[in-house]
Amino acid sequence: MNNQADSLSSTVETLQTNDANFLFNEIIFGVAILAFMALVIIEKIKPFRRFPQKIGKESFITNTTAFIFNNFILTVLRASSLFFVAQQFSSIGILSGLDNGPFKWILSFIFFDLAIYVWHLASHHFEFLWRFHKIHHSDKSFNVSTGFRFHVFDLFLEIPYKCLFVIIIGVDAYVVLAIETIELLFIFFHHANITFDKEELLSRYIITPSLHRTHHSALRSEHDSNYGIVLSGWDQLFGTRLECVPEKIGLDVIEAENFLQLFFLAFITERHVRKILAIIPKGKKRV
Ligand SMILES: [Zn+2]
Repeated sequence: MNNQADSLSSTVETLQTNDANFLFNEIIFGVAILAFMALVIIEKIKPFRRFPQKIGKESFITNTTAFIFNNFILTVLRASSLFFVAQQFSSIGILSGLDNGPFKWILSFIFFDLAIYVWHLASHHFEFLWRFHKIHHSDKSFNVSTGFRFHVFDLFLEIPYKCLFVIIIGVDAYVVLAIETIELLFIFFHHANITFDKEELLSRYIITPSLHRTHHSALRSEHDSNYGIVLSGWDQLFGTRLECVPEKIGLDVIEAENFLQLFFLAFITERHVRKILAIIPKGKKRV
């Protein structure tokens, strides 16, 4: 009887912890979306660079459509895979011996940021990964919505990589999901078309818009740099930091005017891009 009561109270406790974790994640997500809206307004008032209105509008619509589509497809898959793997294997990883608390969360965050730095670097250097990642770089504008612009397969391929992270580091799936949401906030920030006092000083610690703008240069010698997401120390440590103002944003041979073209771009060779795009429907023409 006592055993039954114990197991019931531990189930209730687990449910309460899960509720608290869900609430925490929802709060951070809400903060990220508010930050997104605030950055959109700041970009409008004081942009770092003025893009032609047509390019800016196209970029915003295509990127937000990609975000809605990708989230619709991947949210459940991403969360359920992480939970499944964490349940089975999170007790064997490097940090699994530590108590669940701020110290473990901060270490997990640092490890996660390094893991994503490595993934991002690999996405630029392996042709198969670049095929999907170049979609992110195809934006001719650089604005906060560029942080939404990812090919669904780019995000899909990240799932097993993140599961591997859970196994090696030994963290709870909730922690990974919370870290991901916090990283989203920084992704919005470093894609913002803004500049501010002391940006250079801040860039010694975290990835700022000026560092990430270089990462969106049309030149390969410039966009193969500044792979960090939150901490800029990884680029300094591994010699991939580059500070310059790119002359042109986007990729020369890659163009997409809408979400459908964006999706198909990954499956065609750059040599034939222009020819093939001509036969993919462009949707309603905007003036
Ligand atoms: Zn990149």
